[in-house]
Amino acid sequence: MLHKGYSLVLTALAFIAFALTFMAVKIGNADLSKTTANASNTTQTSIDSIDNQVIAKEVAIKSVRTEAEKINTPPPPARPKNIILMIGDGMGITHITAATIYNKNTLNLERLPVVGLMKTFSTQLITDSAASATAMATGKKTYNGAIAMDARKNKLKTIVEIAEDKGLATGIVTTSSVTHATPAAFYSHQPRRSRVNREVSAEFMTQGIEVLMGGGKRYFKKEHRQDKRDLLRELRRKGYTVVDKLSEVGKDVPRKMVCLIDDMQPSGYNKRGDFLPDATHKAAQILDRDKDGFFMMVEGAQIDWGGHSRNSKFIINEMLDFDRSVGKAIDFAEADGETLVIVTSDHETGGYSINDGSLKKGEVKTKFTDDYHTATMVPLYAFGPGAEQFGGTIDNTEIFIKSCQLLDLEIPKDILEAYQKQTDNGDSAEIGADSTDIMDAHGPVFDSGFGQRFNKSKTKK
Ligand code: MG
Ligand code: ZN
Repeated sequence: MLHKGYSLVLTALAFIAFALTFMAVKIGNADLSKTTANASNTTQTSIDSIDNQVIAKEVAIKSVRTEAEKINTPPPPARPKNIILMIGDGMGITHITAATIYNKNTLNLERLPVVGLMKTFSTQLITDSAASATAMATGKKTYNGAIAMDARKNKLKTIVEIAEDKGLATGIVTTSSVTHATPAAFYSHQPRRSRVNREVSAEFMTQGIEVLMGGGKRYFKKEHRQDKRDLLRELRRKGYTVVDKLSEVGKDVPRKMVCLIDDMQPSGYNKRGDFLPDATHKAAQILDRDKDGFFMMVEGAQIDWGGHSRNSKFIINEMLDFDRSVGKAIDFAEADGETLVIVTSDHETGGYSINDGSLKKGEVKTKFTDDYHTATMVPLYAFGPGAEQFGGTIDNTEIFIKSCQLLDLEIPKDILEAYQKQTDNGDSAEIGADSTDIMDAHGPVFDSGFGQRFNKSKTKK
C-alpha cells in the first residue's frame, strides 16, 4: 500500500510537474506568442513605413522630374511691350572704363545684368555712323554714308516705320541734330549722309513718329529751306507740341512733342546741361501713353566727337551724361516691368586706351591710336524682358532682328531670309577689309557739320 501510496504520490507529483510544465510552456508560449506578435507588429510597421518611404520617395522623384521638366521646357520667354535702344556714338569699352574710373568706380551701366559684344562692320571693315545705324535700324549692312538704303540704293524699311505701321508709338532723342546720321537712319532714306539735313527733316513730316528731340531746328525753318516750307508750323498743325526747351512743358505729358534745343548741333555737355537725361525721361512718359507699346532710340551723339578730337575730358563728360540717361531709362523700365533697355554703340572711336591713372583720384592717362573709328567690337548691355537675347557676341544687324522678334513686328522677308542664311552657314555679310575701305570710311563724316566745330579741340592731344 505504501508502495501504492508512494506511486500515487509520484503520480500526483508527476501530474503536478506536468501541469506546472504545461503551465510553464503555456506561459512561455504566451510570452513567445506575445514576442512573436510584437515582432510581427514591428515588421508590419517597418514594412508600412518602408512603403510610405518608397511612396514618399516616388512622389519626391516625380516632383523633381516635374521640376526638371519645367526647367527643360521653360515657359515662353517674357516679351517686352516697349524697347528703349540707347546708342553711345563712338562708345568703346575704354570710353566706359574711363568714365567709370572718373566716377568713383561706378556707372548706371552696371545696373544692366546682361552684357555682350557687338560686331560693328558695315560692308566695309570700319563703319561710319550712318551704315552702323542703318544696320541696327533695318537689319541690313550697307556702304558707309548710306542712310537706311542698301548697296543698290533701295530704301530699307526701318524698325521705327514698321513699329508705326503696327500702331506702336515711336520716338527719337539725340544730342546731335535730329537730321544727323544716327537718328536719320531710323526714319529717313538718303543715299549720302552729307548735306541732306533739309531732306531728312522733310522726311520726318511723312512719318507718324510721336517724339523728336535734339538739335537741327534751322532745317525745319522756312527761311532756311529752298522749298520755303515752314515745317515748325506744319508740325503744330499736325498736333505736335513744339518747344525749344523741355522746361517749356514742365510736368505736362503732351500726346506728341518736338523739342529742338539748338539751330544746328547742340552744345557739349557743359553748356547743354541735363537735356539728354531729361529728354529720355520725358520721351518715355509721352510714348508710354500708347497702350500698344513703343520703340524709342536715344543717342549720346557726342561721345564720338570727343574721340575724333582725341579729348578724354570731352569723352568722359559725354559718357557721364549718356550714363545718366541710361539711369533714367532703367528707372522707367524698373517701374514699368515691360520695357527692355538695350545700350550699345555704333562703333569705337579713337582706338582709345587707358595707360595710367588713379582709381582713388579718379584720373586717367590715355592714348588714341587714331582720330577716326576703329573696327573693335563694342559692348552691348540689356535690362528687362528679352534681355537674355543680347548676351554673347552678336552682329549689329541683330539689334533690328531681335527687337522686331521681341515686339512681334514683321521683318521684311528678304531681310529675314538673309539673316537665317547667315545663321545657317555661319557666314557674316560680305565684308571688304582693304585699306581703300578705311580711306572711304573717313570721307563722309567730316562734311556733316561737326568737323569744323571741333577743329580747334582736334589739336589737343
Ligand atoms: Mg551719331
Ligand atoms: Zn564718328
